[in-house]
Amino acid sequence: MTVNYDTLIELQKVLAQMFEIEDKIKEIPRDLNVKEAVLQKTKLDYLELSNKCDSLNKEVENIYKSYIEAGQTKEAKEKQMELTTLSREYENLAQEIEQARTSEQNLLKVYNTRKKYLEEVQMKLQITADVVASQTEEVEEETEKKDSLIAEQNQLLEEITAQKNELSKDLSEDLLFKFERIIRNKGGVGVVPIHGTICQGCHMELPQQFANDVRKDEDIHFCPYCSRILYYEPSEEDERFESSVHGDTHTEEDADVASDFISSDENIFGD
Ligand SMILES: [Zn+2]
Repeated sequence: MTVNYDTLIELQKVLAQMFEIEDKIKEIPRDLNVKEAVLQKTKLDYLELSNKCDSLNKEVENIYKSYIEAGQTKEAKEKQMELTTLSREYENLAQEIEQARTSEQNLLKVYNTRKKYLEEVQMKLQITADVVASQTEEVEEETEKKDSLIAEQNQLLEEITAQKNELSKDLSEDLLFKFERIIRNKGGVGVVPIHGTICQGCHMELPQQFANDVRKDEDIHFCPYCSRILYYEPSEEDERFESSVHGDTHTEEDADVASDFISSDENIFGD
């Protein structure tokens, strides 16, 4: 089987473009994914702060209640004291009033400290809510942009795929598959000429018999070193090549080397 190398070269350009578009489509959501992850984290922070606010609120309320109760206890004891005439009872009451007063003062201190802390957390909560809002807006904008960018690239991909199908219609499925892989792995170059016995893809010297077969073009040949498809192109090297081909008759050994290379093709593609 032979192929039209001009068509292959054309196909190679189209495939390289196709892969570029495919890669671009894959890259488009990456930035957005990062932004979405950041937003999720901010939302979690917000939730945590919100829960903290709730429990601090309850705590502050309870402290305040206790503070009021301590005040009421103190006042009740003071009233009781006014009515008492027994000195022993009077002393006890004085002690209880003192305890209630200390407790009242301590509770007020704790109340003020915790209230201040609650206000700090509330402020952080407000800031985090603002951040969530702006990050949400950004993600929404990016999502919209992403969708239109992907639609645009998909349109291009559709056009390029049609070109690919047209150019590859005469290729076997197997050859097309191999060719696509070579192009992906070899930086967009999957079909190269030989100059004399040198592969112009990897610049390795090929066995003369093998180079001769490429020149005859009775079958598709893959470079045994770089796996690229080879075709003959006239070059300055031809003269040297021809003189060596005609000057020397091939030994059995040369032929063996060449056939080894050809049969090793299968391994080259079996990653
Ligand atoms: Zn090569």
